[in-house]
Amino acid sequence: MASSLCKLFPLLWSNSLPNSALCSPNLSKASDLIKSLHAVDAAFVGKCTELRDIVLFLEPKEVTPTVMRKYPTLPWTNIWRGVFHRILDRKYVDFQFRLSHRVLFVGELLKKWGIGKGKCAVCGFVTESISHVFWDCRRAYNCLSWVGRIVRDVGGTRVIFNSNLFLYGSPDSCFPKAVFARLWFVFCAAKFFLWKARCKYVADGKYIPDTEIINSIKYDIKTRVEADFHRLSAEKFKKIWVQGSSFVFINNEKCLTFSTALS
Ligand SMILES: [Zn+2]
Repeated sequence: MASSLCKLFPLLWSNSLPNSALCSPNLSKASDLIKSLHAVDAAFVGKCTELRDIVLFLEPKEVTPTVMRKYPTLPWTNIWRGVFHRILDRKYVDFQFRLSHRVLFVGELLKKWGIGKGKCAVCGFVTESISHVFWDCRRAYNCLSWVGRIVRDVGGTRVIFNSNLFLYGSPDSCFPKAVFARLWFVFCAAKFFLWKARCKYVADGKYIPDTEIINSIKYDIKTRVEADFHRLSAEKFKKIWVQGSSFVFINNEKCLTFSTALS
């Protein structure tokens, strides 16, 4: 690639430009030139092998993440929508991004790299996978019961709370959009603090009690909701956190209250 560019744009690549001392050969400048040349005379660019190769290289290609190739039947459009959902804070987006790509360093992954035996440090289960940490491990049990209580409070008792809904936000079709967004925020907060507790135990041997994990989740949710209450217009706030069924309520248009699960 570089040698082709060097041949086609000797001046750009030669350090002989007046300001060449200030900048290195400029790939984006070269690609801009090729693009404009292609726009003017596509046939010429098509005939010139080196230019054609460069144009091909510059064309955006669809990249399929490994996880999508590995699990092709999962509803990836929904999953990515959940990762970048606007209700999530930056730290939850980053965390959910890693979780959805399955690049959290659980025992299963470390074993593949030749580190450790892959066992769950908390309960000793043979393979510490992502679904084990967040759904099957006894460490997650109390936290999940608490989250399940909020799901039932908001969605009714007929809603099925399963691992795919908790881990990937899918399928969410039994909830109105705004209602599920609130729950998704709770799910991501719960996963985030469960993971923090798991890492603290693995790294420092410090076992954080379940009540402490749940209190951290509650605190984070309430802090975020209260911040939104002060920074957003009343209409927008209600749309995001209150309308439909919720765990957040407004008293006399003035102060916030939370459902008993959160208080
Ligand atoms: Zn476990």
